[in-house]
Formats: sequence, structure tokens, C-alpha cells
Amino acid sequence: ATPMSVMVGVGKAAEAGVLIRNGESLQTASKITAMVLDKTGTITEGSPKVTDIVSFNDLSDDENLKLAASLETGSEHPLAQSIVESAKEKDIELSKSSDFNAIAGHGVEGNVDGKHLYFGNEKLMRDQGIDIDHAVDKAQELAGEAKTPMYFAIDKKLAAIIAVADPIKDDSIEAIKRLQKSGIRVVMLTGDNKATAKAVANKVGIEEFFAEVLPEDKVNKVKELQQEGELVGMTGDGINDAPALAQADVGFAIGTGTDVAIESADITLMRGSLHGLADAVATSKATLRNIK
Ligand code: ADP
Ligand code: MG
Repeated sequence: ATPMSVMVGVGKAAEAGVLIRNGESLQTASKITAMVLDKTGTITEGSPKVTDIVSFNDLSDDENLKLAASLETGSEHPLAQSIVESAKEKDIELSKSSDFNAIAGHGVEGNVDGKHLYFGNEKLMRDQGIDIDHAVDKAQELAGEAKTPMYFAIDKKLAAIIAVADPIKDDSIEAIKRLQKSGIRVVMLTGDNKATAKAVANKVGIEEFFAEVLPEDKVNKVKELQQEGELVGMTGDGINDAPALAQADVGFAIGTGTDVAIESADITLMRGSLHGLADAVATSKATLRNIK
């Protein structure tokens, strides 16, 4: 491509809220054969809300929520924010936590009101030897509704399931359809559990997805696709996504996402909408056509 036509392409994209860091990534974008999409904050809005509290101990739902929210004040995860937010809405007064520890891709632990708490996914509970067998059906049911169920344990006994729902962005379905129509293989990656991932993938028309992917394994999924011969675009918003964004042939960051993701990406979607992906590919193709 001539420098002039690339400049025009970059300018056109910018008008549509798609910021392209360099001319080279604009040219590569036209050749993308597979697009990896993170779920939370990329396909979905990334601002989950608490929908269900199911208690299994003799505390009330609000008492369990109070302990869980007190623990989560130590975490910056969007899931943690939704728990704290929900307690605030109910005017529940939070306690101080100590010995807080975040276990990436699994959850959190710490002490509140003299109790040792774990809060997170099924894997976290199993790793700690906490019995959740009597609660798995309920969690599956919630996950089938595209909610994310989290297990809350007090002193190594299951106390409650707290579920959150994270709405799918208004235009994600349309934008994904555009990518698929242009012949791109669309793949979803998430740290969330399989049943929730499946429900979300179904809703947005994605057939191929990988769930329970640990933060450090997202980059490996991108590498695997590259080894299969795909030219890979990766789209994400989180700190967790940064290595995968850097590994991809073209990395796309959600403009409302974390700074680390934006710095690791080649292209930033300022409007947060996934339409920016199809727009970038189309602009890229038009730019290359102009040159020939
Ligand atoms: P995602 O790709 O959905 O952002 P993560 O890899 O950050 O996923 O987390 C994977 C799973 O670990 C979450 O779906 C949740 O079940 C659990 N988890 C992670 N962080 C927290 C937290 N602060 N509180 C409760 N659960 C958490
Ligand atoms: Mg995310």
C-alpha cells in the first residue's frame, strides 16, 4: 500500500472511532482469518449485577452478602465490584477484611469478622476441599440462564451461591454476524465456567468457544490458532488479555477497557462496539484495493 492510501485509511477509521496505531496493522487487518473475542467486557458490557443469592447455611441472604462484599472490597475484578455494589444498594454496612488474597482466574480469600472466607468458582472450592455437591445443580441452572454463579464458603463450609448477570452489548450479535459473513472464524475465550460460556455463545451465534481459560492460557490459545495457520485477531479489554493481544497478528482493545490492554493492542475501538472490528477489516480491504 502507498503511504498516502494508508494514511487515508487510518483517517477514515478514526472517524468511525477506530484508532489504528500504525499503518502496518491496518494492512494486516484485511487478512485476518480468525477473530478471538474475550467474553466479559468485550462481548458483554462488563458491568455485572447480582441477580440471585441462594443460602445454604443458617445465615440470611443479606448476612452472607455482607461477608462476601466485605471480602470483595479488596478486589478490583468486575465481579467483585458487582458484589460490593449490591451490598451498598441494600445499605448493608461492610466489615474490614484482613489477609486478603486474590487467586487469579479462581476467586478471592480472606478473613472477615473472625471467619475465613473463600469466594469464587467451582475450581476454587474443589481445590480447597469444600463440599459443593449439594449446590452444583443450582449453579448449573443459573449458568444455563447465562448468569455467572459464584460459590461462597465460610470456614470451609459452603455458605451460599451468589450469581451475577452481565448483559450482552446491544450490537454484539450484529457485529459478530458481520465478521462471520466476511468469512472470519469467530472464537470466544473466557475464564468463566462452561455452562455460562455456552449460554452466552449461543445467544450471540458463536459456535466455537473455550471456557475456564486461565489468564496465562489465553495467549496459548492465540498461539494454537496461529499454528493451525490462522492469521489471528484478538479482542479484549482486561489486564488478563494483554499478553494475548500482543501475541495476536492484530490486537484490538476495547476503548473503555484497562490501559494495559490498550497499550498492548494495535487498534483501539473507542466506542466499545464490536462493529469497530468489521469496520476495521472493511477499511483495511478498501485501502489495499485502492493501491492496486
Ligand atoms: P473473566 O475472563 O470472566 O474475566 P477471570 O479469569 O478473571 O474471568 O475469572 C474466572 C472466574 O474466577 C470468574 O468467572 C469467577 O468465577 C472467579 N473469580 C475471579 N475473580 C473473582 C472475584 N474477585 N470474586 C469472585 N470470583 C472471582
Ligand atoms: Mg474481559
